Amino acid sequence: MLSQLGDEAKVLAGGQSLIPLMKLRFANPSHLVDLNFISGTSYIKEENNALRFGALTRHAEIEASPIAAKIPILHDCAAGIADVQVRNRGTIGGSLAEADPSGDWATVLITLPTEVRCLGRTGERSLPLSDFIKDAYTTTLAHDELVREVVLKVPPKGGGGAYLAFKRSAPVYPTASAAVQLTMEGDICKDAAIALGCVGLTAIRPKEAEAALRGQRITDKTKSAAMEAARIAADPQTDMRGSADYKRTLAAALVKRAIDIAIRRAAGQQVEVSHIYA
Ligand SMILES: Cc1cc2nc3c(=O)[nH]c(=O)nc-3n(C[C@H](O)[C@H](O)[C@H](O)COP(=O)(O)OP(=O)(O)OC[C@H]3O[C@@H](n4cnc5c(N)ncnc54)[C@H](O)[C@@H]3O)c2cc1C
Repeated sequence: MLSQLGDEAKVLAGGQSLIPLMKLRFANPSHLVDLNFISGTSYIKEENNALRFGALTRHAEIEASPIAAKIPILHDCAAGIADVQVRNRGTIGGSLAEADPSGDWATVLITLPTEVRCLGRTGERSLPLSDFIKDAYTTTLAHDELVREVVLKVPPKGGGGAYLAFKRSAPVYPTASAAVQLTMEGDICKDAAIALGCVGLTAIRPKEAEAALRGQRITDKTKSAAMEAARIAADPQTDMRGSADYKRTLAAALVKRAIDIAIRRAAGQQVEVSHIYA
């Protein structure tokens, strides 16, 4: 249908980004192709040490899923998106396709090996999330191509992660956020993936911050080095949510808190987290 209707047609998933944009007249599609009538597009499966999410899986379904809870950073993300109404409608596939710089899913999923499976007229292709999102609101999707599935590898033994966002209230996007996924061997950090959200045009991987942790015993000194590297890597804009300097400092502080929680989770502790509200 998308091919027949042409470039101005858009697909509708949860409508939680597209409909507000249409109300504001920022989007004016010629046709809406509603994916909600296609059965079998919403599921959460565990297979071959990977989790698979159908594109139409709602944030609320992920929040409630015992399978997704095996990777706590996924629950942190799903449970913190906006409010119940948005979580009941919004989808993981729609969130990645929208590529909103403030969206939570891309920031979290980029810390895990995540593939986006896309379906077009000529067949399927699968690409890493880091290649799928090209820029703010820009992906590699052709206009007649769909996100079909999101697939991520279950972290190895010793893996622990956390996602924290700082928000002014529940139904608004975060001012800044940080996702941290560590692989610990005893008190040594074998591997570290960090992503910063809302402080750049896309989620930022502060490579120097990751390097500051990798292969190290995590002490106040290594955490401070990671924080400083994250502060430098952040590239925020001053806007109604705060000044650029404020957001840089905030992102660094969130990284530190997320590291602390990730370490405890890697050690097998059950740690509940919720976003931080102003
Ligand atoms: C008040 C409010 C607060 C919000 N706060 C947050 C927040 O804090 N954090 C956060 O992450 N998000 C937030 N959101 C956005 C929400 O998470 C959306 O659900 C998400 O961004 C888009 O998913 P959707 O399913 O609603 O997509 P839609 O709005 O239906 O679609 C979004 C775009 O993606 C395209 N698209 C959708 N699905 C596919 C697909 N399968 N294949 C190809 N293209 C597709 C559509 O054509 C459209 O261009 C908020 C939304 C609202 C209304």
